[in-house]
Amino acid sequence: MRGNMTWLSAAARIGTLLAVATALGWYYGQPLAAVTIALAGLVILWLYQMYQVQRWLQRPGEPPPEAYGIWGELLGQIYQLQKRGREARARLQSTVDYLQDSFASMRDGVAIVDDQGVLKWFNESAQRLLGLRPDDRGQSLMNLLRTPEFLRYFNREDYSQPLQYRVGGDDGVYQRVEITRFGDGDRLLFVRDVTAEVRMEKVRKDFVANVSHELRTPLTVICGYLGTFLSDTTRLEQRYIKPLQQMLQQAVRMENLLKDLLLLARIESEQGIVRHVPIELCALLAELQDELRTAHADRKIELDLELGAGHKVLGDYRELYSAVSNLVLNAIKYSPVDSLVTIVWRQVGVNYVLEVKDRGIGIDRRHVPRLTERFYRVEDSRASSTGGTGLGLAIVKHVAASHGIRLEINSELGKGSVFSLVFGPQTQVTSPPQQARANPAA
Ligand code: ADP
Repeated sequence: MRGNMTWLSAAARIGTLLAVATALGWYYGQPLAAVTIALAGLVILWLYQMYQVQRWLQRPGEPPPEAYGIWGELLGQIYQLQKRGREARARLQSTVDYLQDSFASMRDGVAIVDDQGVLKWFNESAQRLLGLRPDDRGQSLMNLLRTPEFLRYFNREDYSQPLQYRVGGDDGVYQRVEITRFGDGDRLLFVRDVTAEVRMEKVRKDFVANVSHELRTPLTVICGYLGTFLSDTTRLEQRYIKPLQQMLQQAVRMENLLKDLLLLARIESEQGIVRHVPIELCALLAELQDELRTAHADRKIELDLELGAGHKVLGDYRELYSAVSNLVLNAIKYSPVDSLVTIVWRQVGVNYVLEVKDRGIGIDRRHVPRLTERFYRVEDSRASSTGGTGLGLAIVKHVAASHGIRLEINSELGKGSVFSLVFGPQTQVTSPPQQARANPAA
């Protein structure tokens, strides 16, 4: 509204100037010359004002020069806009400073790396944890990192899982790093010292392993005596037979539980130690089938081996055997006696896949994410007398993790389940080189 008024009064002033010039020109007999002089004066005045505006715009921060009419209004508005812009920038800067201060004061290391891997910013904790120096800003992080695991993780596309690694020897510290992408391929790194947590976890694991170990000997004695008593029931009083059988059954269950706990403790303690050798899964499956023929003679277990003996994977035979046998025993446990259990060993794309299929009770989708937790059992199997320990799938998960294998679970309630172990290319043994085959005599 005010702007309109200014324009109107400016137009009125120009109109008045031209009218006065025309009247004077008329009076002196030169109306055209008078109007031309008036217009030329107006143009000179405006040019002068423009010159002043341009000079003022080149000196930011200074108050606007004195100007009248429409020019004064224009300069006032530009000045207000500039002032508001400066205030907004100051507010933004103080927010950025505040955020930087809070990141800088964090006990966790924080670093920002651009899409080329160049360090843009890091706090003091990151300096301490990653061994950086203040003048490392602007350097490539790849040249500064000394931990190979961290380097491999940094170069990966997938940061869905954090990485935990040890720095230094046996007495070294443990660190956990998480990376998040943001902006145009920039990465935000969080590094934390988790040595205390890892040590606590180790104390807990050692305790479970030691207790399991200590309990094994007395339990073996108990099982042994119970077995001896029950081997000749004619010499036992009738009323003791059933309780003794139940005692033996529970003691055997406890033994299995301890065996599984010890196996889990061993796999966990050996995690990170690579002792993998080429393994022929066909042979492993054949051995398993033999064992199951005796223990589960009533069950039909079908082997479907698409991949032959030449297809080997890297692994620990005992650990892989125990993972696969846990999957097959579950398939047997959770499906009717007359149904078929199928073990498939095949290639899918670049992966080798071992599938254990059953046509049994299946699993409700909501349980699937928790199945590999220790002692997690679906209510139905908890209630039933399948005799499981609740540790089978936890063992499978740990074996898979220590081998770099992916465990996939597909199941439909009432229809059956498929548990798959997916061996990626890094777990496969490559076939012998061409020249070795070209010269069979060698
Ligand atoms: P458990 O000793 O109880 O079998 P696991 O860790 O091997 O323990 O399995 C955890 C739970 O997952 C089981 O209690 C069962 O409810 C469910 N489960 C595992 N395998 C199957 C399967 N093939 N079919 C249906 N349910 C299964």
